[in-house]
Amino acid sequence: MINSKFPYIFYGGDYNPEQWQKEIIDEDIRLFKLSNINIVTLPVFSWALLQPSEDNYDFDWLDDIFDKLKKNDINICLATSTAVQPAWMSKKYPEMLPVDFEGRRRHFGGRVKFCPNSEKYREFSVRLATKLAKRYKEYENLALWHIGNEYDNYCYCENCRKKFIEWLKNKYSSLENLNNAWNNRFWGHTLYSWDEVTVPSALSEMWNGQNKICTNFQGIAIDYNRFMSDSILECYLGEYEAIKKITPNIKITTNFMGTFKPLDYFKWADYLDIISWDNYPCYGDEPSKVSMRHDLMRSLKNGKPFMLMEQSPNQQNWQPYNTIKRPGELRMQSFQTLAHGADSIMYFQMRQSVGACEKYHAAIISHSGSENTRIFKECSQIGEELKMLNDCTIDSIFDSKVAMIFDWENWWAVEFSSGPSVDLTYIPQIEKYYKSFYKNNIPVDFVKPEGDLSRYDIVVAPVLYMIKENVADNIKNFVENGGTFITTFFSGYVDENDKVKLGGYPADFKDLLGLWIEEIDALPMEKNNSIEIAPFIPGFKSSYKCDMLYDIINLEGAETLGVYGSDFYKGRPVFTCNNFGKGKAYYIGTNAENNFIDDLIKKIASNYSLNSYFNPIDGVEITKRIKGNKNIYFILNHNTFETSLTLKNSYINLFTKEKVENSIIVSEKDILILEEI
Ligand SMILES: [Zn+2]
Repeated sequence: MINSKFPYIFYGGDYNPEQWQKEIIDEDIRLFKLSNINIVTLPVFSWALLQPSEDNYDFDWLDDIFDKLKKNDINICLATSTAVQPAWMSKKYPEMLPVDFEGRRRHFGGRVKFCPNSEKYREFSVRLATKLAKRYKEYENLALWHIGNEYDNYCYCENCRKKFIEWLKNKYSSLENLNNAWNNRFWGHTLYSWDEVTVPSALSEMWNGQNKICTNFQGIAIDYNRFMSDSILECYLGEYEAIKKITPNIKITTNFMGTFKPLDYFKWADYLDIISWDNYPCYGDEPSKVSMRHDLMRSLKNGKPFMLMEQSPNQQNWQPYNTIKRPGELRMQSFQTLAHGADSIMYFQMRQSVGACEKYHAAIISHSGSENTRIFKECSQIGEELKMLNDCTIDSIFDSKVAMIFDWENWWAVEFSSGPSVDLTYIPQIEKYYKSFYKNNIPVDFVKPEGDLSRYDIVVAPVLYMIKENVADNIKNFVENGGTFITTFFSGYVDENDKVKLGGYPADFKDLLGLWIEEIDALPMEKNNSIEIAPFIPGFKSSYKCDMLYDIINLEGAETLGVYGSDFYKGRPVFTCNNFGKGKAYYIGTNAENNFIDDLIKKIASNYSLNSYFNPIDGVEITKRIKGNKNIYFILNHNTFETSLTLKNSYINLFTKEKVENSIIVSEKDILILEEI
C-alpha cells in the first residue's frame, strides 16, 4: 500500500499554488473536493521561493497551503523541489550548471539543468530536502515523498570527466583492463595515463547522426551512460537517505518516464520505495503501446503495484499537434493504468498556468475556472468511480507466466552499434512481440536478463544483442528445466563492453539454439523477403513477409520450421526450433511481419493454456489482478461499438455492485471491473 493510513486509490496530481493568489487557491480547494481529489503533489518547482538566498529559507507560504489542505482532508505528495536550482545559486556557483553534448556550458534556464556531479548541487538539494522533512514530518496528511522531477540531466563538464575517471578506476582497476575492455588498440586509442580519458561527446567520439547519436567507440559510450545513470541516481539517493532518517515510514519515489532511454530504471528501482511514472501517449498510439509501458514499470519492482504520477487530463503543449482527448478517452486511459497494476491516478496538472511554456497544457481546472467543462466533469466522474472501488483493487498483483527480457544497457548497445541497419531500433522490436500476447489477453512481465526466470513458462528476448556475465547460463537453465525461449536476429553477439564474442554468432547461444550465423544481410525496408513455413506445421500460414535483416544460418541440431522464399539464400533456414534439456528454443532470423509473430505466440501459448480465461476479442483489452483469493478482471472496450462477452463464472460488477453471469454487454469505449465470486 502506498500509505496504510490512506487505504484508497490516490486521485489527484501536480498543483502549483505558488503561482496563485489566496482567493484562487481557496476556489481550487473547493473544486478539488467537488472532483473527488484526495491528494496533490507539491511544490515541484519552488526551490527559488523556498530558499531566496544562501542563508534564508521561507516555508511560511507552504505552511498555509498545508493547513488549508489538511482542513479539507486532502493528502500531500511532498515534492522536494530540487529539479530547478534558483537562478542566484546558478550564478554564485556556476559549476552547478551542466556542459552539454556539444561542449557548451549552459546558463541558468529550463529545468533539470544541473551537473549531477556538482558537490554544491548535492549539498544544497540535500539541505532543502532535510529542512522540508524536519518541518513537515508530523503533518498528518503527508502521504509520500516525491524527489526531484523527471531526472534526465547528462553532463559533459570537466568535473564529470574527473568523476568518470574515478568510476572507471573503480570498475577496471588498471588501465590495461580499461584499454582491453574498450578495445583501444583500434584507431590508436591506447591510454597510458588515467588523465587521458575524455568524456564521449560531440567534441570527442560522438556525433548527432541522422536518426540517432553515433559513436566511434561503443564501449566508452555505454560506460558513460552507465556512469551518468549512476551519477544522477546518487543525486536522488542523497535526498532519499536524508529524508528516510527523518520520516522512515513514509514511502519515497521519483517520477519515471516509461521507456526513457538515458536512465537504467531497473537499477534505479532498487532505491525507490514505490515506482511511479508519467504516462503521455502520443497522438495515434495504440493501446498496446501504453499497456506495455505500464507493464514495464510494474515489473521494475517485481510486479508490486505502481503509481501513475502524471497524465494529462486533456491536451499537452509539447507535441507537434496537441490533440484534445475525445470523450471517454481520459477515463479509458485512467482505468487502463489501474488494469495494469497501478494504485493511483494522478495528473499534471490541477490548474492551468497563465504564463510560460505549459500555459496551454491541460489541467483539471482550465483557464475558464469553470466546473462545467467537459474535462472537469470527466475527471469528477473518474474520481467518483475510484471512490466506489474503495480498496477493492489496492495491492492486488499479477500472475504472469510470460516474461520479456528488457535491458537498458542492451538498448544502448543496439542503438550505438555502427551497423547492421539504420532501421534497427530496440523498442519497436519489444512492442511487436508484446502486442501478440496483449491481443490474446496474456499477461506479460518484463525481467532484466539476469533476473529470476523460474516462475515463467515462456521467455521472449527480441534483439538481446548484449550478453552479460551469467545471462546465457540463466536462460539456458530456464530452457533446460522445460521453458520455451524465443529470440531473434542480432542476439547474443557481444559482451557488456560491446566486444564481439568469437566463434560465430550468437556465441553463447549456439548450443541453446542449435545453429550459428555466418552472415547478416541488411536491405532497405522497401525490399523484402518471405518466410516459407515447412509443410505440415499446424497453426501457421504457408508464407509470411519479412524485411530489414536476414541471417544466413547454419544448423547444428535445430529443426527448420521456415526458410527464405527468395534471394541467393532462398531455401536456407530462417525460423528454427531446438530441443534443449526439457525445453525448446525458437529462433527468428529476420524481422517478421506481425501476423507471423501472432501465429507463433498463439501456438506456443496454447501449449501452456495461457489464453483461456476470456476468448480474445479485437479491440477489447482484458487483464486480471489478484487480491488474496479474489480474481478481479478489467475489461476495456477500445472499440467504437458495443461488444458482448461470454462469462464462464459469476462476478460482481464493482461499479454497480450487481451480480453478473452468462454474458454481459460492454458499451463502446466503456470499462467493466468484475470481481469473480
Ligand atoms: Zn558535470
